[in-house]
Amino acid sequence: MEYKHLKRLLGKRAINSPNILEAYSYDASGLVLKPSIVLRPRRSSEVKKIIDYANRYRYKLLPRGFGTNNVGGAITSDILIDLSAMNDYKIVIDKKYVDMQPGARISDVRKSLPEGLDIDIYPCTLVEPSIGGLIASGIHSREQDIDYLYSQILEVEAIDGTGKQYVFKDASRIFGTEGTLFIITRVRLALSEKKTYRSYSITNYNSLIDLLVEAKKAEKESSITAIDIYSPLASRMLGFEESWLLIKTYLDTVGEYKTNEKVMAIKKKLESLHFSMASKGYISQESIISRNYAFEALNNIHKKGMPAMLHYLDGYMHVYIKNNDISHLRDFYDSLLLHSSIPGGHGYGLLKKKYVPPGIKNRYRKLKDTYDYNNILSPGKIISYR
Ligand SMILES: Cc1cc2nc3c(=O)[nH]c(=O)nc-3n(C[C@H](O)[C@H](O)[C@H](O)COP(=O)(O)OP(=O)(O)OC[C@H]3O[C@@H](n4cnc5c(N)ncnc54)[C@H](O)[C@@H]3O)c2cc1C
Repeated sequence: MEYKHLKRLLGKRAINSPNILEAYSYDASGLVLKPSIVLRPRRSSEVKKIIDYANRYRYKLLPRGFGTNNVGGAITSDILIDLSAMNDYKIVIDKKYVDMQPGARISDVRKSLPEGLDIDIYPCTLVEPSIGGLIASGIHSREQDIDYLYSQILEVEAIDGTGKQYVFKDASRIFGTEGTLFIITRVRLALSEKKTYRSYSITNYNSLIDLLVEAKKAEKESSITAIDIYSPLASRMLGFEESWLLIKTYLDTVGEYKTNEKVMAIKKKLESLHFSMASKGYISQESIISRNYAFEALNNIHKKGMPAMLHYLDGYMHVYIKNNDISHLRDFYDSLLLHSSIPGGHGYGLLKKKYVPPGIKNRYRKLKDTYDYNNILSPGKIISYR
């Protein structure tokens, strides 16, 4: 396709050189799809014009942040809109908020904040997502619950598939919709006082049963905010001994490691797991399992030679699978279905589309009728529409 109008609109920021298209054919899922053209808008008005053209000429569009999702959410054979060039932000200290373009990162804003102020959202990952991608793919954070996160998002400006612009005070309407209904063009986050808290306890176990007995006891401790279990292979990857590892996170200083320096060093080490795994050719996939199934699930996965870690309190389990083995991954999901659910916490993308619950599919179809009836945005993702 020629895309004459888009090239006129964006000039050199409408790119279809083979090398660039190849570079945009991947995200962190291991799936590959080459876009037909990559657009790099800088302003909301350009995003709106792109959507208007798409409606007029029936183009299909997929928004993309930094491509860190692990479910094939940011790859397409249609038009890819790379929002990473929209990365400005404006801090308004006296009103305690920051306005961020969708390609900005929380860590960049943090660097510019005066001492004592913070954004109280921790994406729990060193893979730095864009704020647009983070909200669109459904922020999952083991340390904070979803309602709390909503309260930190004061406003979201987004454009739907028909080109209509909205400012949502309640982010839940666009939260986790993976670019299928809206392109997020601005996010207003609350600024709050920086908290210094938490401490850790770290214990190795030779027996998974003994570890789970301790985890069950810890559940009742009031200042516990996270109980994480690492399989021996994951534990070794973190630089601990190769045995079952239990890490308890406290909101106060009850834990053994409590100085700010130690806490930050441990946090960094834990967050490096996904990176170490990625460097060895593994990708993380997730499921939510019931606590009663924790022993069986962890034990089976360990026996199959797959490293794993479980956020015991909410049942969120990361399993590391060699990224050249997508069929193995599908077997893994199928085998889990009886005892667990496949969450869309990091998005459903193309990889997990098969596992989207029927209720969510129906809801999306209705939303598409309102917000994207020409099926311009992210066609084929989450649901098949028309
Ligand atoms: C191993 C691993 C572990 C992770 N752990 C966590 C974690 O614990 N907590 C956590 O919060 N995050 C975590 N993440 C990050 C998270 O899952 C996503 O990767 C991230 O939120 C996506 O941001 P991105 O900018 O890379 O978006 P992309 O990967 O580029 O896109 C993700 C999805 O959002 C859509 N999208 C992107 N930008 C926009 C926009 N402006 N408007 C509308 N739709 C858009 C895309 O179409 C796509 O469907 C993890 C990632 C990895 C790889």
